[in-house]
Amino acid sequence: MSGRDMVKPLLGHRTIEGDPSITPAAGRTIGVLGSGDFARSLAIRLVCSGFKVVVGSRNPRRKAGLFPSAAEVTLQAEAVKKTDVIFVAVFREHYSTLCDLADVLVGKILVDVSNNTEINHHKESNAEYLASLFPACTVVKGFNVVSAWTLQSGARDGNKQVLICSNNQEAKRTIAEIAQVMGFTPVDMGCMSSASEIENIPLRLLPAWKIPIFLALGLFICFFTYNLIRQVIHPYIREQKNKLYKIPIEVVNTTLPCVAYVMLSLVYLPGVLAACSQLYYGTKYRRFPDWLDQWLQHRKQIGLLSFFCAALHAMYSFCLPMRRSHRYQLIETAVKQAVEKKMNIWVEEEVWRMEIYISVGIIALGLLSLLAITSLPSIANSLNWREFSFIQSTLGFIALVISTLHTLTYGWSRAFDENQYKFYLPPTYTLTLLVPCTVILAKVIFNFPCIQQRLQRIRRGWEKGRYVKFVLPSARGEYSSGETSSNV
Ligand code: NAP
Repeated sequence: MSGRDMVKPLLGHRTIEGDPSITPAAGRTIGVLGSGDFARSLAIRLVCSGFKVVVGSRNPRRKAGLFPSAAEVTLQAEAVKKTDVIFVAVFREHYSTLCDLADVLVGKILVDVSNNTEINHHKESNAEYLASLFPACTVVKGFNVVSAWTLQSGARDGNKQVLICSNNQEAKRTIAEIAQVMGFTPVDMGCMSSASEIENIPLRLLPAWKIPIFLALGLFICFFTYNLIRQVIHPYIREQKNKLYKIPIEVVNTTLPCVAYVMLSLVYLPGVLAACSQLYYGTKYRRFPDWLDQWLQHRKQIGLLSFFCAALHAMYSFCLPMRRSHRYQLIETAVKQAVEKKMNIWVEEEVWRMEIYISVGIIALGLLSLLAITSLPSIANSLNWREFSFIQSTLGFIALVISTLHTLTYGWSRAFDENQYKFYLPPTYTLTLLVPCTVILAKVIFNFPCIQQRLQRIRRGWEKGRYVKFVLPSARGEYSSGETSSNV
Protein backbone atom coordinates (compact mmCIF):
# COMPACT_ATOMS: atom_id res chain seq x y z
CA MET A 1 0.00 0.00 0.00
CA SER A 2 1.44 3.39 -0.96
CA GLY A 3 1.91 6.20 1.49
CA ARG A 4 -0.99 8.08 -0.14
CA ASP A 5 -3.27 5.11 0.22
CA MET A 6 -2.37 4.83 3.85
CA VAL A 7 -4.12 8.06 4.75
CA LYS A 8 -7.13 7.46 2.50
CA PRO A 9 -10.00 5.76 4.34
CA LEU A 10 -10.47 2.31 2.80
CA LEU A 11 -13.89 1.55 4.24
CA GLY A 12 -15.12 5.09 4.59
CA HIS A 13 -15.10 6.88 7.94
CA ARG A 14 -18.39 6.40 9.77
CA THR A 15 -19.39 9.27 12.02
CA ILE A 16 -21.74 8.85 14.92
CA GLU A 17 -23.80 12.01 14.41
CA GLY A 18 -27.06 11.63 12.59
CA ASP A 19 -27.01 7.87 12.26
CA PRO A 20 -27.96 5.97 15.38
CA SER A 21 -27.20 2.61 13.75
CA ILE A 22 -23.56 3.51 13.33
CA THR A 23 -21.28 2.13 15.98
CA PRO A 24 -19.54 4.60 18.29
CA ALA A 25 -16.30 2.62 17.89
CA ALA A 26 -15.09 4.52 14.78
CA GLY A 27 -13.22 7.71 15.51
CA ARG A 28 -11.87 6.60 18.88
CA THR A 29 -8.16 6.36 19.58
CA ILE A 30 -6.64 2.89 19.48
CA GLY A 31 -3.21 2.05 20.82
CA VAL A 32 -0.82 -0.48 19.33
CA LEU A 33 2.19 -1.75 21.27
CA GLY A 34 4.97 -2.94 18.97
CA SER A 35 6.08 -1.74 15.57
CA GLY A 36 6.56 -5.01 13.69
CA ASP A 37 4.73 -6.46 10.69
CA PHE A 38 1.45 -7.03 12.49
CA ALA A 39 1.48 -3.67 14.27
CA ARG A 40 2.12 -1.86 10.98
CA SER A 41 -0.65 -3.64 9.08
CA LEU A 42 -3.03 -3.18 11.99
CA ALA A 43 -2.25 0.53 12.19
CA ILE A 44 -2.83 0.96 8.44
CA ARG A 45 -6.16 -0.85 8.61
CA LEU A 46 -7.26 1.09 11.70
CA VAL A 47 -6.37 4.43 10.07
CA CYS A 48 -8.18 3.41 6.89
CA SER A 49 -11.22 2.48 8.98
CA GLY A 50 -11.39 5.93 10.54
CA PHE A 51 -9.67 5.36 13.89
CA LYS A 52 -6.99 7.53 15.42
CA VAL A 53 -3.96 5.37 16.02
CA VAL A 54 -1.14 5.78 18.47
CA VAL A 55 1.73 3.33 18.23
CA GLY A 56 3.95 2.58 21.22
CA SER A 57 7.49 1.60 20.32
CA ARG A 58 10.75 1.23 22.22
CA ASN A 59 12.35 3.23 19.43
CA PRO A 60 9.70 5.56 17.92
CA ARG A 61 12.10 7.73 15.92
CA ARG A 62 13.47 4.79 13.97
CA LYS A 63 10.05 3.19 13.35
CA ALA A 64 7.88 6.27 12.63
CA GLY A 65 8.62 6.24 8.86
CA LEU A 66 7.14 2.75 8.53
CA PHE A 67 3.68 3.87 9.63
CA PRO A 68 1.03 5.98 7.88
CA SER A 69 1.47 9.67 8.60
CA ALA A 70 -1.98 9.72 10.25
CA ALA A 71 -0.72 7.37 12.96
CA GLU A 72 1.24 8.81 15.86
CA VAL A 73 4.33 6.82 16.76
CA THR A 74 5.61 7.47 20.23
CA LEU A 75 7.13 5.83 23.29
CA GLN A 76 5.22 2.89 24.75
CA ALA A 77 4.22 4.73 27.97
CA GLU A 78 3.05 7.80 26.04
CA ALA A 79 0.95 5.71 23.69
CA VAL A 80 -0.68 3.79 26.52
CA LYS A 81 -1.67 7.05 28.29
CA LYS A 82 -3.57 8.27 25.22
CA THR A 83 -5.98 5.40 24.83
CA ASP A 84 -8.14 2.85 26.63
CA VAL A 85 -7.87 0.09 24.05
CA ILE A 86 -4.41 -1.28 23.29
CA PHE A 87 -3.48 -4.01 20.84
CA VAL A 88 -0.41 -5.87 22.13
CA ALA A 89 1.43 -6.71 18.89
CA VAL A 90 4.41 -8.20 20.68
CA PHE A 91 5.49 -11.85 21.01
CA ARG A 92 4.58 -13.67 24.24
CA GLU A 93 8.21 -14.02 25.28
CA HIS A 94 8.47 -10.21 25.43
CA TYR A 95 5.33 -9.61 27.49
CA SER A 96 7.34 -9.41 30.70
CA THR A 97 9.32 -6.46 29.26
CA LEU A 98 6.03 -4.52 29.25
CA CYS A 99 5.68 -4.85 33.05
CA ASP A 100 7.21 -1.37 33.52
CA LEU A 101 3.98 -0.05 31.96
CA ALA A 102 1.77 -1.74 34.58
CA ASP A 103 0.86 1.55 36.31
CA VAL A 104 -0.25 3.33 33.15
CA LEU A 105 -2.08 0.26 31.92
CA VAL A 106 -4.46 0.07 34.90
CA GLY A 107 -8.10 -0.22 33.78
CA LYS A 108 -7.29 -0.49 30.08
CA ILE A 109 -8.40 -3.12 27.58
CA LEU A 110 -5.50 -5.16 26.22
CA VAL A 111 -6.05 -7.11 23.00
CA ASP A 112 -3.82 -10.15 22.80
CA VAL A 113 -3.16 -10.87 19.10
CA SER A 114 -0.36 -13.35 19.63
CA ASN A 115 0.11 -16.81 18.17
CA ASN A 116 2.36 -19.69 19.13
CA THR A 117 4.74 -21.76 17.07
CA GLU A 118 3.33 -25.10 18.26
CA ILE A 119 -0.15 -26.35 19.15
CA ASN A 120 -0.70 -26.20 22.95
CA HIS A 121 2.84 -24.86 23.31
CA HIS A 122 2.29 -23.47 26.82
CA LYS A 123 0.13 -24.72 29.67
CA GLU A 124 -1.81 -21.46 29.82
CA SER A 125 -2.78 -19.50 26.75
CA ASN A 126 -0.84 -16.34 25.83
CA ALA A 127 -3.90 -14.25 26.66
CA GLU A 128 -4.23 -15.83 30.12
CA TYR A 129 -0.51 -15.25 30.66
CA LEU A 130 -0.90 -11.58 29.68
CA ALA A 131 -3.89 -11.28 32.03
CA SER A 132 -1.82 -12.76 34.86
CA LEU A 133 0.94 -10.18 34.25
CA PHE A 134 -1.55 -7.29 34.20
CA PRO A 135 -4.35 -8.15 36.65
CA ALA A 136 -5.57 -4.53 36.66
CA CYS A 137 -6.32 -4.70 32.91
CA THR A 138 -9.07 -6.43 30.97
CA VAL A 139 -7.65 -8.81 28.40
CA VAL A 140 -9.46 -9.76 25.21
CA LYS A 141 -8.10 -12.44 22.88
CA GLY A 142 -8.64 -11.65 19.23
CA PHE A 143 -7.32 -10.87 15.73
CA ASN A 144 -4.69 -13.64 15.91
CA VAL A 145 -6.45 -15.60 13.15
CA VAL A 146 -5.96 -12.76 10.65
CA SER A 147 -2.54 -12.27 9.17
CA ALA A 148 -0.66 -9.03 8.61
CA TRP A 149 -1.32 -9.58 4.90
CA THR A 150 -5.10 -9.89 5.44
CA LEU A 151 -5.10 -6.69 7.47
CA GLN A 152 -3.37 -4.82 4.67
CA SER A 153 -5.33 -6.29 1.79
CA GLY A 154 -8.51 -4.60 2.97
CA ALA A 155 -12.06 -5.84 3.35
CA ARG A 156 -12.17 -7.28 -0.16
CA ASP A 157 -9.74 -10.13 0.40
CA GLY A 158 -8.60 -12.64 2.99
CA ASN A 159 -10.27 -14.19 6.00
CA LYS A 160 -13.03 -11.96 7.35
CA GLN A 161 -13.66 -13.70 10.66
CA VAL A 162 -12.12 -12.44 13.86
CA LEU A 163 -12.54 -14.82 16.80
CA ILE A 164 -12.86 -13.03 20.12
CA CYS A 165 -12.99 -14.23 23.71
CA SER A 166 -12.79 -12.58 27.11
CA ASN A 167 -14.19 -12.87 30.60
CA ASN A 168 -15.45 -9.28 30.32
CA GLN A 169 -18.56 -8.90 28.14
CA GLU A 170 -18.26 -5.13 27.81
CA ALA A 171 -14.63 -5.30 26.66
CA LYS A 172 -15.50 -8.06 24.23
CA ARG A 173 -18.32 -5.93 22.79
CA THR A 174 -15.95 -2.97 22.34
CA ILE A 175 -13.41 -5.10 20.42
CA ALA A 176 -16.19 -6.69 18.37
CA GLU A 177 -17.37 -3.20 17.36
CA ILE A 178 -13.84 -2.20 16.37
CA ALA A 179 -13.50 -5.39 14.31
CA GLN A 180 -16.81 -4.67 12.60
CA VAL A 181 -15.81 -1.12 11.69
CA MET A 182 -12.58 -2.55 10.26
CA GLY A 183 -14.66 -4.74 7.94
CA PHE A 184 -14.28 -8.00 9.84
CA THR A 185 -16.93 -10.34 11.17
CA PRO A 186 -16.44 -10.76 14.91
CA VAL A 187 -17.21 -14.24 16.23
CA ASP A 188 -17.84 -14.54 19.97
CA MET A 189 -15.93 -17.56 21.24
CA GLY A 190 -17.01 -17.14 24.86
CA CYS A 191 -14.81 -16.64 27.90
CA MET A 192 -11.04 -16.59 28.27
CA SER A 193 -10.79 -20.38 28.59
CA SER A 194 -11.32 -20.50 24.79
CA ALA A 195 -8.11 -18.55 24.19
CA SER A 196 -5.94 -21.70 23.82
CA GLU A 197 -8.32 -23.04 21.20
CA ILE A 198 -8.25 -19.71 19.31
CA GLU A 199 -4.44 -19.65 19.48
CA ASN A 200 -4.26 -23.18 18.06
CA ILE A 201 -6.45 -22.39 15.04
CA PRO A 202 -3.79 -20.67 12.87
CA LEU A 203 -1.42 -23.60 13.51
CA ARG A 204 -3.77 -26.32 12.30
CA LEU A 205 -3.00 -27.55 8.80
CA LEU A 206 -6.22 -28.19 6.85
CA PRO A 207 -8.01 -29.88 9.77
CA ALA A 208 -11.14 -30.69 7.75
CA TRP A 209 -9.05 -32.23 4.97
CA LYS A 210 -6.95 -34.71 6.96
CA ILE A 211 -9.36 -37.68 6.85
CA PRO A 212 -10.40 -37.15 3.18
CA ILE A 213 -6.75 -36.77 2.11
CA PHE A 214 -5.73 -39.96 3.96
CA LEU A 215 -8.71 -41.72 2.43
CA ALA A 216 -7.75 -40.59 -1.08
CA LEU A 217 -4.10 -41.51 -0.51
CA GLY A 218 -5.08 -44.92 0.87
CA LEU A 219 -7.28 -45.64 -2.13
CA PHE A 220 -4.59 -44.36 -4.49
CA ILE A 221 -1.94 -46.64 -2.98
CA CYS A 222 -4.25 -49.70 -3.10
CA PHE A 223 -5.37 -49.16 -6.69
CA PHE A 224 -1.88 -48.15 -7.84
CA THR A 225 -0.39 -51.37 -6.42
CA TYR A 226 -3.18 -53.43 -7.98
CA ASN A 227 -2.69 -51.81 -11.39
CA LEU A 228 1.10 -52.12 -11.10
CA ILE A 229 0.78 -55.85 -10.53
CA ARG A 230 -1.57 -56.26 -13.49
CA GLN A 231 0.12 -53.89 -15.97
CA VAL A 232 3.83 -54.13 -15.12
CA ILE A 233 4.68 -57.06 -12.85
CA HIS A 234 2.47 -59.63 -14.59
CA PRO A 235 3.94 -59.09 -18.13
CA TYR A 236 7.45 -59.12 -16.62
CA ILE A 237 6.98 -62.42 -14.77
CA ARG A 238 4.88 -64.20 -17.41
CA GLU A 239 6.46 -62.89 -20.64
CA GLN A 240 9.72 -61.25 -19.47
CA LYS A 241 8.51 -58.00 -20.97
CA ASN A 242 9.77 -54.74 -19.47
CA LYS A 243 6.75 -52.47 -19.07
CA LEU A 244 8.22 -50.16 -16.43
CA TYR A 245 7.66 -47.19 -18.77
CA LYS A 246 3.93 -47.54 -18.03
CA ILE A 247 4.33 -46.45 -14.40
CA PRO A 248 4.43 -42.64 -14.73
CA ILE A 249 1.44 -42.23 -17.01
CA GLU A 250 -0.54 -45.37 -17.79
CA VAL A 251 -0.60 -46.87 -14.30
CA VAL A 252 -1.27 -43.48 -12.73
CA ASN A 253 -3.97 -42.76 -15.28
CA THR A 254 -5.77 -46.04 -14.59
CA THR A 255 -5.49 -45.40 -10.85
CA LEU A 256 -6.83 -41.83 -10.79
CA PRO A 257 -10.29 -42.59 -12.21
CA CYS A 258 -10.65 -45.50 -9.76
CA VAL A 259 -9.95 -43.13 -6.85
CA ALA A 260 -12.22 -40.40 -8.28
CA TYR A 261 -15.09 -42.82 -8.86
CA VAL A 262 -14.89 -44.59 -5.49
CA MET A 263 -14.47 -41.24 -3.67
CA LEU A 264 -17.58 -39.92 -5.42
CA SER A 265 -19.56 -42.93 -4.23
CA LEU A 266 -18.17 -42.38 -0.72
CA VAL A 267 -19.85 -38.95 -0.76
CA TYR A 268 -23.24 -40.64 -1.07
CA LEU A 269 -22.62 -43.82 0.93
CA PRO A 270 -22.89 -42.19 4.41
CA GLY A 271 -26.27 -40.73 3.41
CA VAL A 272 -27.40 -44.26 2.50
CA LEU A 273 -26.10 -45.62 5.82
CA ALA A 274 -27.79 -42.78 7.70
CA ALA A 275 -31.09 -43.53 5.93
CA CYS A 276 -30.72 -47.27 6.75
CA SER A 277 -30.13 -46.39 10.41
CA GLN A 278 -33.19 -44.11 10.46
CA LEU A 279 -35.35 -46.78 8.83
CA TYR A 280 -34.07 -49.48 11.17
CA TYR A 281 -34.56 -47.53 14.38
CA GLY A 282 -37.64 -45.70 13.10
CA THR A 283 -36.45 -42.31 14.32
CA LYS A 284 -34.25 -39.41 13.28
CA TYR A 285 -33.52 -38.46 16.88
CA ARG A 286 -31.08 -41.31 17.55
CA ARG A 287 -27.48 -40.11 17.27
CA PHE A 288 -25.42 -41.62 14.48
CA PRO A 289 -22.19 -43.32 15.55
CA ASP A 290 -19.24 -40.90 15.68
CA TRP A 291 -17.56 -42.37 12.60
CA LEU A 292 -20.71 -41.84 10.53
CA ASP A 293 -21.10 -38.31 11.89
CA GLN A 294 -17.49 -37.53 10.92
CA TRP A 295 -17.98 -39.08 7.52
CA LEU A 296 -21.13 -37.02 6.87
CA GLN A 297 -19.24 -33.86 7.83
CA HIS A 298 -16.38 -34.60 5.40
CA ARG A 299 -18.52 -35.21 2.31
CA LYS A 300 -17.64 -31.86 0.76
CA GLN A 301 -13.89 -32.48 0.98
CA ILE A 302 -14.29 -36.08 -0.27
CA GLY A 303 -16.28 -34.76 -3.23
CA LEU A 304 -13.69 -32.09 -4.01
CA LEU A 305 -10.89 -34.66 -3.93
CA SER A 306 -12.94 -36.86 -6.24
CA PHE A 307 -13.21 -33.91 -8.64
CA PHE A 308 -9.46 -33.27 -8.34
CA CYS A 309 -8.62 -36.88 -9.28
CA ALA A 310 -11.15 -36.82 -12.13
CA ALA A 311 -9.65 -33.58 -13.48
CA LEU A 312 -6.14 -35.08 -13.31
CA HIS A 313 -7.43 -38.20 -15.10
CA ALA A 314 -8.82 -35.98 -17.89
CA MET A 315 -5.47 -34.19 -18.26
CA TYR A 316 -3.48 -37.43 -18.28
CA SER A 317 -5.88 -38.88 -20.87
CA PHE A 318 -5.35 -35.85 -23.13
CA CYS A 319 -1.63 -36.50 -23.00
CA LEU A 320 -1.78 -40.21 -23.81
CA PRO A 321 -1.36 -39.74 -27.61
CA MET A 322 1.65 -37.44 -27.05
CA ARG A 323 3.80 -40.22 -25.63
CA ARG A 324 6.61 -41.74 -27.68
CA SER A 325 5.51 -45.24 -26.62
CA HIS A 326 2.09 -44.56 -28.11
CA ARG A 327 3.61 -43.37 -31.43
CA TYR A 328 5.88 -46.44 -31.65
CA GLN A 329 2.94 -48.73 -30.95
CA LEU A 330 0.86 -47.01 -33.66
CA ILE A 331 3.63 -47.34 -36.20
CA GLU A 332 4.21 -50.97 -35.18
CA THR A 333 0.53 -51.74 -35.69
CA ALA A 334 0.55 -49.99 -39.08
CA VAL A 335 3.62 -51.95 -40.19
CA LYS A 336 2.08 -55.23 -39.05
CA GLN A 337 -1.06 -54.39 -41.01
CA ALA A 338 0.96 -53.62 -44.09
CA VAL A 339 2.91 -56.87 -43.77
CA GLU A 340 -0.28 -58.85 -43.25
CA LYS A 341 -1.90 -56.84 -46.09
CA LYS A 342 -4.88 -55.94 -43.86
CA MET A 343 -6.86 -53.02 -45.27
CA ASN A 344 -9.75 -52.53 -42.91
CA ILE A 345 -9.20 -52.53 -39.17
CA TRP A 346 -12.41 -50.65 -38.35
CA VAL A 347 -14.28 -52.42 -35.53
CA GLU A 348 -17.73 -50.89 -35.29
CA GLU A 349 -18.35 -52.04 -31.70
CA GLU A 350 -15.03 -50.60 -30.51
CA VAL A 351 -15.73 -47.30 -32.28
CA TRP A 352 -19.10 -46.96 -30.57
CA ARG A 353 -17.70 -48.01 -27.23
CA MET A 354 -15.02 -45.30 -27.34
CA GLU A 355 -17.44 -42.60 -28.53
CA ILE A 356 -19.86 -43.33 -25.68
CA TYR A 357 -17.04 -43.80 -23.15
CA ILE A 358 -15.48 -40.40 -23.88
CA SER A 359 -18.80 -38.59 -24.13
CA VAL A 360 -20.15 -39.80 -20.77
CA GLY A 361 -16.74 -39.15 -19.22
CA ILE A 362 -16.89 -35.52 -20.33
CA ILE A 363 -20.44 -35.15 -19.00
CA ALA A 364 -19.45 -36.69 -15.66
CA LEU A 365 -16.48 -34.31 -15.37
CA GLY A 366 -18.73 -31.36 -16.26
CA LEU A 367 -21.18 -32.31 -13.51
CA LEU A 368 -18.35 -32.80 -11.01
CA SER A 369 -17.04 -29.32 -11.89
CA LEU A 370 -20.50 -27.89 -11.22
CA LEU A 371 -20.63 -29.66 -7.85
CA ALA A 372 -17.16 -28.36 -6.98
CA ILE A 373 -18.00 -24.78 -7.95
CA THR A 374 -21.26 -24.75 -6.02
CA SER A 375 -19.51 -26.04 -2.91
CA LEU A 376 -17.45 -22.81 -2.75
CA PRO A 377 -18.84 -20.75 0.15
CA SER A 378 -19.36 -17.63 -1.99
CA ILE A 379 -21.47 -19.59 -4.52
CA ALA A 380 -23.18 -21.83 -1.95
CA ASN A 381 -24.26 -18.75 0.01
CA SER A 382 -26.01 -17.36 -3.06
CA LEU A 383 -28.17 -20.49 -3.45
CA ASN A 384 -31.27 -21.28 -1.45
CA TRP A 385 -31.51 -24.64 0.30
CA ARG A 386 -33.58 -26.25 -2.50
CA GLU A 387 -31.10 -25.16 -5.20
CA PHE A 388 -28.12 -26.31 -3.14
CA SER A 389 -29.65 -29.69 -2.35
CA PHE A 390 -30.77 -30.15 -5.99
CA ILE A 391 -27.21 -29.58 -7.24
CA GLN A 392 -25.34 -31.45 -4.52
CA SER A 393 -27.78 -34.28 -4.03
CA THR A 394 -29.68 -34.84 -7.30
CA LEU A 395 -27.04 -33.72 -9.81
CA GLY A 396 -24.35 -35.37 -7.68
CA PHE A 397 -26.21 -38.66 -7.82
CA ILE A 398 -26.65 -38.25 -11.60
CA ALA A 399 -22.89 -37.67 -11.81
CA LEU A 400 -22.38 -40.97 -9.97
CA VAL A 401 -24.69 -42.79 -12.40
CA ILE A 402 -22.94 -41.25 -15.42
CA SER A 403 -19.55 -42.13 -13.96
CA THR A 404 -20.81 -45.70 -13.64
CA LEU A 405 -21.75 -45.66 -17.34
CA HIS A 406 -18.28 -44.28 -18.09
CA THR A 407 -16.70 -47.15 -16.13
CA LEU A 408 -18.93 -49.78 -17.70
CA THR A 409 -18.24 -48.59 -21.26
CA TYR A 410 -14.53 -48.61 -20.41
CA GLY A 411 -14.70 -52.19 -19.13
CA TRP A 412 -17.26 -53.40 -21.68
CA SER A 413 -16.86 -57.18 -21.89
CA ARG A 414 -13.45 -57.42 -20.26
CA ALA A 415 -14.89 -58.92 -17.11
CA PHE A 416 -15.91 -61.97 -19.17
CA ASP A 417 -12.53 -62.37 -20.89
CA GLU A 418 -10.34 -64.80 -18.98
CA ASN A 419 -7.15 -63.23 -20.44
CA GLN A 420 -7.98 -60.15 -18.38
CA TYR A 421 -7.57 -62.06 -15.11
CA LYS A 422 -3.86 -61.48 -14.45
CA PHE A 423 -2.69 -63.69 -11.57
CA TYR A 424 -6.43 -64.43 -11.19
CA LEU A 425 -6.96 -60.75 -10.36
CA PRO A 426 -10.10 -59.36 -12.00
CA PRO A 427 -9.85 -56.15 -14.08
CA THR A 428 -9.60 -53.08 -11.80
CA TYR A 429 -12.82 -51.53 -13.04
CA THR A 430 -14.86 -54.46 -11.68
CA LEU A 431 -13.56 -53.68 -8.17
CA THR A 432 -14.34 -49.99 -8.46
CA LEU A 433 -17.96 -50.78 -9.35
CA LEU A 434 -18.70 -52.43 -5.98
CA VAL A 435 -19.36 -49.41 -3.75
CA PRO A 436 -20.94 -47.11 -6.39
CA CYS A 437 -23.34 -49.83 -7.55
CA THR A 438 -24.32 -50.52 -3.93
CA VAL A 439 -25.05 -46.82 -3.46
CA ILE A 440 -27.06 -46.59 -6.68
CA LEU A 441 -29.04 -49.72 -5.82
CA ALA A 442 -29.75 -48.44 -2.30
CA LYS A 443 -30.91 -45.08 -3.70
CA VAL A 444 -33.23 -46.86 -6.13
CA ILE A 445 -34.67 -48.97 -3.29
CA PHE A 446 -35.17 -45.85 -1.14
CA ASN A 447 -37.26 -44.45 -3.98
CA PHE A 448 -39.82 -47.26 -3.73
CA PRO A 449 -42.96 -45.42 -2.53
CA CYS A 450 -43.40 -47.54 0.63
CA ILE A 451 -39.81 -46.90 1.77
CA GLN A 452 -39.67 -43.30 0.58
CA GLN A 453 -42.85 -42.42 2.48
CA ARG A 454 -41.64 -44.03 5.69
CA LEU A 455 -38.28 -42.24 5.40
CA GLN A 456 -40.01 -38.92 4.74
CA ARG A 457 -42.23 -39.37 7.81
CA ILE A 458 -39.21 -40.21 9.96
CA ARG A 459 -37.38 -37.14 8.68
CA ARG A 460 -40.38 -35.00 9.59
CA GLY A 461 -40.26 -36.21 13.16
CA TRP A 462 -42.34 -39.42 13.20
CA GLU A 463 -41.00 -42.07 15.55
CA LYS A 464 -41.60 -45.82 15.58
CA GLY A 465 -43.45 -47.03 18.67
CA ARG A 466 -44.26 -43.56 19.98
CA TYR A 467 -47.96 -43.40 19.26
CA VAL A 468 -50.56 -41.37 21.10
CA LYS A 469 -54.27 -41.96 20.95
CA PHE A 470 -56.28 -39.02 19.83
CA VAL A 471 -59.83 -38.48 18.81
CA LEU A 472 -60.82 -37.69 15.24
CA PRO A 473 -64.12 -36.05 14.47
CA SER A 474 -65.82 -38.41 11.99
CA ALA A 475 -67.76 -37.22 8.96
CA ARG A 476 -71.01 -38.06 10.75
CA GLY A 477 -70.21 -35.77 13.61
CA GLU A 478 -69.28 -38.67 15.90
CA TYR A 479 -65.86 -39.23 17.37
CA SER A 480 -63.67 -42.22 16.57
CA SER A 481 -60.26 -43.04 17.90
CA GLY A 482 -57.20 -43.04 15.62
CA GLU A 483 -53.48 -43.57 16.02
CA THR A 484 -50.77 -41.21 15.00
CA SER A 485 -47.23 -40.23 15.92
CA SER A 486 -47.01 -37.73 18.73
CA ASN A 487 -44.82 -35.58 16.49
CA VAL A 488 -47.04 -35.32 13.43
P1 NAP B 1 7.61 -8.57 14.75
O1 NAP B 1 7.59 -8.05 13.36
O2 NAP B 1 8.82 -9.26 15.21
O3 NAP B 1 7.28 -7.39 15.75
C1 NAP B 1 7.33 -7.56 17.14
C2 NAP B 1 7.45 -6.21 17.77
O4 NAP B 1 7.45 -6.36 19.18
C3 NAP B 1 8.77 -5.49 17.48
O5 NAP B 1 8.69 -4.75 16.31
C4 NAP B 1 8.99 -4.63 18.69
O6 NAP B 1 8.59 -3.30 18.44
C5 NAP B 1 8.02 -5.18 19.75
N1 NAP B 1 8.71 -5.49 21.01
C6 NAP B 1 8.33 -5.05 22.22
N2 NAP B 1 9.15 -5.52 23.17
C7 NAP B 1 10.09 -6.26 22.57
C8 NAP B 1 11.22 -6.97 23.01
N3 NAP B 1 11.53 -7.03 24.30
N4 NAP B 1 11.97 -7.60 22.10
C9 NAP B 1 11.66 -7.58 20.77
N5 NAP B 1 10.59 -6.92 20.30
C10 NAP B 1 9.81 -6.26 21.18
O7 NAP B 1 6.37 -9.56 14.96
P2 NAP B 1 4.93 -9.50 14.29
O8 NAP B 1 4.90 -10.39 13.12
O9 NAP B 1 4.49 -8.10 14.12
O10 NAP B 1 4.02 -10.20 15.42
C11 NAP B 1 3.67 -9.49 16.59
C12 NAP B 1 2.59 -10.28 17.32
O11 NAP B 1 1.48 -10.44 16.44
C13 NAP B 1 3.03 -11.69 17.70
O12 NAP B 1 2.50 -12.04 18.95
C14 NAP B 1 2.40 -12.57 16.63
O13 NAP B 1 2.12 -13.88 17.08
C15 NAP B 1 1.12 -11.81 16.35
N6 NAP B 1 0.57 -12.09 15.01
C16 NAP B 1 1.31 -11.82 13.91
C17 NAP B 1 0.76 -12.08 12.66
C18 NAP B 1 1.51 -11.77 11.38
O14 NAP B 1 0.97 -12.02 10.29
N7 NAP B 1 2.71 -11.22 11.45
C19 NAP B 1 -0.52 -12.63 12.57
C20 NAP B 1 -1.25 -12.88 13.71
C21 NAP B 1 -0.69 -12.60 14.94
P3 NAP B 1 9.45 -2.06 19.02
O15 NAP B 1 10.88 -2.36 18.73
O16 NAP B 1 8.94 -0.86 18.29
O17 NAP B 1 9.14 -1.99 20.48
